[in-house]
Amino acid sequence: MIRAVTQDHYMTETVGLIADFDGPIADVSERYYRVYHECLDRLGEENSRIKRLSKSEFWQLKRARVPEREIGQRSGLTPEQGQEFAKLRRELVHSQPYLKYDQLIPGAIAALERAQAAGFELTLMTMRRERELAEALSRFDVGRFFPEERRYCMGNQEVKTADTQDKPRLMARAMTELPRYETLWMVGDTEADAIAANSQGIQFIGVLSGIRDRPSLQAHHPYKIVNTLSEAVDVLLETFTAQKAQQQP
Ligand SMILES: [Mg+2]
Repeated sequence: MIRAVTQDHYMTETVGLIADFDGPIADVSERYYRVYHECLDRLGEENSRIKRLSKSEFWQLKRARVPEREIGQRSGLTPEQGQEFAKLRRELVHSQPYLKYDQLIPGAIAALERAQAAGFELTLMTMRRERELAEALSRFDVGRFFPEERRYCMGNQEVKTADTQDKPRLMARAMTELPRYETLWMVGDTEADAIAANSQGIQFIGVLSGIRDRPSLQAHHPYKIVNTLSEAVDVLLETFTAQKAQQQP
């Protein structure tokens, strides 16, 4: 069946696009950096060896998957304090007072609008808990792109293990609940997204606007790595335009 989507796009199939939230849509770097300072403030009292990393140094380490305790040690903490630092950081980083530091990735709303206008059916999949997601959806006004039944997140009380395990589980659940799309894509910024997509045979596009660098994403053989969600939508639109051109006699 040919479905008229917009004046410019005619698709012969239904396309689903699963978007991760932090990385493609939200930038959490300022929140993480504030928490980094808070942890050093609490642990580093009377410690003259503390050497605070700049935001770009800190974020580069996060993107390269350097463990928290090592980030603590590189900031002048002892190995024991590094362990404490990692524990404290875990407690604080998703807590309410810090969520307000999250920012919308420039161009993300326009990208979602273009995806929607092209007829892609959007689903959100995030490791945020319900309350953390609700805060950001309303503050960034992006809830309108994702009906409630197309939002996959962690429950407020749900036990978390590791993203690389929790996300594939969430994806497996989504596969039993989402419509059967002829083509399904996922856009995300971490190995957990790639693993979740690969586990269900979903094509994955990695974005560099989040918490992983290119080598970290490359290790999981994405279809493509691009800078932003906007560029990922461009890739999809080009792919479908090219397929359409091939199908025409
Ligand atoms: Mg993410």
